[in-house]
Amino acid sequence: MIRKTFYYFCEVEINLSEKIVIHFIAFFILMEKEAKFWEVLEGKKVRCNLCRRHCIILPGKRGVCMVRENRDGKLISLSYGNVVSIAIDPIEKKPLFNFKPGTEVLSYSTMGCNFKCRYCQNWEISQALPEEIRYEEIPAEVLVEIALQYKSPGIAHTYTEPTIYYEYAYEVSKIAKEKGLFNVWVTNGYIEKEPLKEIRPYLDGANIDLKAFNEKFYKDLCGGIELDEVLDSIKYWHKLGIHIELTNLIIPGWNDSFEEIRQMVKWIIDNLGKDIPLHFTRFFPHYKMIETPITPLETLLEAYNIAKEEGLYYVYIGNVWPNKYENTYCYNCGELLIERDGYYIKKKNLEKKGNRVICPTCGKRQNIIL
Ligand code: SF4
Repeated sequence: MIRKTFYYFCEVEINLSEKIVIHFIAFFILMEKEAKFWEVLEGKKVRCNLCRRHCIILPGKRGVCMVRENRDGKLISLSYGNVVSIAIDPIEKKPLFNFKPGTEVLSYSTMGCNFKCRYCQNWEISQALPEEIRYEEIPAEVLVEIALQYKSPGIAHTYTEPTIYYEYAYEVSKIAKEKGLFNVWVTNGYIEKEPLKEIRPYLDGANIDLKAFNEKFYKDLCGGIELDEVLDSIKYWHKLGIHIELTNLIIPGWNDSFEEIRQMVKWIIDNLGKDIPLHFTRFFPHYKMIETPITPLETLLEAYNIAKEEGLYYVYIGNVWPNKYENTYCYNCGELLIERDGYYIKKKNLEKKGNRVICPTCGKRQNIIL
């Protein structure tokens, strides 16, 4: 498959496999910037308040994400503008199925993550130290220029965790919005409320991982993460009126209890509503979990059936091709609204009434943004 790779001083096209994308050859001095959302404690320690870990960082040390460093009592972002991955992706790959379906979007990331998932499929960039990885300094306005040059209608802040490169994502998002582009995040949902509120005017959509509905999963597989904080964060994204979709990667033996899946779906309906799209995705062995088996298709199908039975409108199965559960159907009459083949759209069958998207057969309003 041909993908385009960009440099702001040149452009090349190379062959890539379906898996993304680290292919920068330039290597410069790390760009840095004073971080936002932190406070000084005694002895020049600082507390970072960007994500819900609230790391207390000694002088000369870094937070768990390894890209925020205490320099003599001041918190510095080491990931600012240091891009490790960039490509044009179908938005379905995020996955976002009910937001601008069929668009191709400039997608990028810097290095680092505040989670330590043992199965991370992007671990080469998410778990890398800034010193260990090739990157390219791309000023925020240049990244937006690249998006415009390639006629991308928006920017996806993705691949690693946008929260931990917040200062850069913020500037890119602001400039992108001024130029008429949308911004979407693919996130683990561990950002604190204040930073999310501040970037809200520039954010249009997000896919948030709801990795499991049990505490052990988040504690043992993700590096001491609190499920309650994730749930609280998801509710806040929703409260701010951002279009959200949720992804639940089902890993055999860890989060595949049908009772747990049912509880999770009930929580989504009670706290967010029936029209939140939910993507069940298939696990493949990665990183430190190469011994764990692939998710059986029967498990994914049963999860799908449970979610539909409980009343969720838009349920999808991902990482299985081809499958009819990647299509979007009207929740009311069952009409096929968007037919997909993997990440690509074969047919759109939607109507607009004012600014609302409706089913052409029964006229019901759909939670789909065109
Ligand atoms: S963003 Fe990084 S340094 Fe800040 S609290 Fe989260 S993990 Fe710690």
